[in-house]
Amino acid sequence: MILNPIQASLKELAQALGTKAISSVELTTLFLDRSERLNPTLNAFITLDRDKTLAMARAADVRLATGETGPLLGIPLAYKDIFCMEGWLTTCASKMLANFVSPYDAHVVEQFKKAGMVTLGKCNMDEFAMGSSTENSFYGPAKNPWDVRRVPGGSSGGSAVAIAARLAPAATGTDTGGSIRQPAALCGLTGIKPTYGVVSRYGMIAFASSLDQGGPMAKSAEDCALLLGAMAGFDPRDSTSLQRPAEDYRRSLEKPLDGLRIGLPKEFFCAGMSDDVRSAVDAALGEYRKLGARTIEVSLPNSGLSVPAYYVIAPAEASSNLSRFDGVRYGYRAPDYSDLADMYCKTRAQGFGAEVKRRILIGTYVLSHGYYDAYYLQAQKVRRLIANDFAEAFKHCDIIASPTTPNVAFEIGSKSSDPVQMYLSDIYTTSANLAGLPGLSIPCGFGAGNMPVGLQLIGNYFDEARMLNLAHRYQQATDWHLRMPEEL
Ligand code: GLN
Repeated sequence: MILNPIQASLKELAQALGTKAISSVELTTLFLDRSERLNPTLNAFITLDRDKTLAMARAADVRLATGETGPLLGIPLAYKDIFCMEGWLTTCASKMLANFVSPYDAHVVEQFKKAGMVTLGKCNMDEFAMGSSTENSFYGPAKNPWDVRRVPGGSSGGSAVAIAARLAPAATGTDTGGSIRQPAALCGLTGIKPTYGVVSRYGMIAFASSLDQGGPMAKSAEDCALLLGAMAGFDPRDSTSLQRPAEDYRRSLEKPLDGLRIGLPKEFFCAGMSDDVRSAVDAALGEYRKLGARTIEVSLPNSGLSVPAYYVIAPAEASSNLSRFDGVRYGYRAPDYSDLADMYCKTRAQGFGAEVKRRILIGTYVLSHGYYDAYYLQAQKVRRLIANDFAEAFKHCDIIASPTTPNVAFEIGSKSSDPVQMYLSDIYTTSANLAGLPGLSIPCGFGAGNMPVGLQLIGNYFDEARMLNLAHRYQQATDWHLRMPEEL
């Protein structure tokens, strides 16, 4: 077989590295060259650092030369710029952190370094992961490689662009309300947000701590399964990290789907979904029936409340988390101020972008005396009802399917003036975060403007292996995940 590295699976890349058909330096150089060539058009990366990257590739080649093998050893990986990485600029796409070089590695980064992965660069994103389009970046919007006039989704938009344009074989993302699944869907990729607590949040800059979860984004479910295995695991430095035995998420990829019950929430399959998305999703469900699964109707009666509850809880937690950016300890400090209070005010006024300020204002408001009961507490109660709805639905089905987004990728600028319209693109994704459940998106066809459509699968707690099994079987029967945009 002749290896085409930009289309190859991680397994094929590991094989090529293991048999010395290609070195890590050669492979990494190929992706670096593409990235340097296409980044001025796509704005996928905030930081590319050829010297640091190639030093890591050389170190991987030394490990390979000693006969060491590993499924990820020597393979390049891009990171959302929310993951702290020692010696690398870690900006979270904010002016506030535009000068911040992290003194330490996030848990996820440590894990991938141990596995021998090579850091290709730090990816563009919405500032502090707040957004659904990667337009809220201090570094300007990332562009969807399927149509550069359109957004790639967000907030992990740069990661999605890097993979879709084949600048990187895989990337990390984080998902607070859909930020792995939504850009994966809009760029034709596979991405999984694990059960809350499976991946350590240590060194992942916090947005809304009770919702944030890191996960992999890649071309296929098989690649995601491999990456998730390296990312997951107990970490005492994150108090919500779960102590569970290590899992091989590839263990049931090939399992037949006979008799599997796929629940279709009737509230998700009603008005609001565009026709092109609906027909791609219907066709995917047809494919699942051919593969032996059954589809049944289920109900998530409170799902209509998930976006409002999310947009109370996430800003509330964000307003607290972002109080640390005060110009004293790290990051940006306003150059001119009269006293300490003035320094705080000017630093935060100048350092944060408009969407981040909006969230801090909303969050502070819903947590303040007199409004706490009316908004925050109420939203927490709704959150419980949403989790209960899923518990009830999983009595009748094994997995839940829905579209990932109501529409294909929209044009840059078309929703910027209407935050509520933007928030509604998270309508199918936020409930999994509120309930702490794992969610995945796989490409399932193309809609308006020949833009990718994503199918979402939501599993019960810790059912990642089964979700990846469903995704993999679908990808063995279809080739949507292998399509790539025409060369730019
Ligand atoms: N789009 C959602 C928001 O703006 C979700 C973002 C995320 O998952 N990080 O908050």
